[in-house]
Amino acid sequence: MTEEVLGLLRPDLRDLVPYEVPHYPGYIKLDANENPYPLAPEVLAEVCRRLSGESFNRYPDPLATALRGKLAEYTGLAPENILAGNGSDELILNLFLAFGSGGRIIITPPTFAMYEIHARIAGAVPVMVARREDFSLDLPALIREAQNPATRITVICSPNNPTGNIVPREVVEAVVAATGGLVLLDEAYAEFAGESYCDLINRCPRLVVLRTFSKAFGLAGLRVGYLLADPAVITALLRVKQPFNLNSFSQLVAVTVLEYLPLFERRVGEIVASREELYRRLKAVRGVEVFPSRANFILFRTPLPAQKVYEGLLARRVLIRNVAGPGLEQCLRVTVGRPAENEAFVEALKEVVEGCAENG
Ligand SMILES: *Cc1c(COP(=O)(O)O)cnc(C)c1O
Repeated sequence: MTEEVLGLLRPDLRDLVPYEVPHYPGYIKLDANENPYPLAPEVLAEVCRRLSGESFNRYPDPLATALRGKLAEYTGLAPENILAGNGSDELILNLFLAFGSGGRIIITPPTFAMYEIHARIAGAVPVMVARREDFSLDLPALIREAQNPATRITVICSPNNPTGNIVPREVVEAVVAATGGLVLLDEAYAEFAGESYCDLINRCPRLVVLRTFSKAFGLAGLRVGYLLADPAVITALLRVKQPFNLNSFSQLVAVTVLEYLPLFERRVGEIVASREELYRRLKAVRGVEVFPSRANFILFRTPLPAQKVYEGLLARRVLIRNVAGPGLEQCLRVTVGRPAENEAFVEALKEVVEGCAENG
């Protein structure tokens, strides 16, 4: 970017680093917490059948009415409690734009990087309250910051990306009780944990729960997320939402997928079983420390610099995520893939870690 253009850019965005996505075609891809299984043939066939009734010359339903109806059944909440988005990423930004701009947004690192990026784009001040060494929330510190009158939103991710642990229900309730602002509970991985606190919304009108089709339902490429909240929060968000944010095709596929729940529940069960197997295999690799996970990824630490491990795996055509940083020294995150992919990853890791140990 030329100096001239940079000079026109909002000063508070100048040092924001654009989100980068590595691209290695043909590699074993375990870096983005995607579902490793493609859409089941019967679901794909049903999508194709329904497509014959679509012509796509009209704008999509701005309120995604059919999808919200299905999601009401799935979550046990009412359609008025639901807002669909172009990925949950869009909903995070909308929530921060509507409620966070000019105030403080509390973030609990190590956690999902997009909270800080969206907070800054929305013109809010991100305030970090670090998790403890065991990745649990530092509740006294969090409550202190949540109570600050300038705090508009407190963000909690559970199961937390990239650490994999969940936050107890009582802790979420305590933060909601302490703050005068909103609490955003990101449950992108709830299906893998087998539990959700979204029922709390009926008692806590300032709690906002975020979910997605990108992980358990395997629709990352279609960008469908949803937010669960008090109807007053939903109505407020309509002020900043792009009217046609969720395209017709994505709405159609998401509705269809929800009609095949048992099939997806079976897949989630398989991924959870693979996660436990991968956990055992990782623990057996010499020098590797593995952290328990309730999601579809596993965090681990090796005795080597994380970048060296990352590159060693890349050389063996395996792509994972280097998440090393404060609180995550020498740590990497691997997504649970299909059994053969997990196996190839463990073998490659053994070569990298144990090979390096032997060579000094
Ligand atoms: C993957 C992920 C999401 C999902 O984002 P989409 O935009 O719905 O694909 C949200 N939050 C966290 C913590 C995630 O890891």
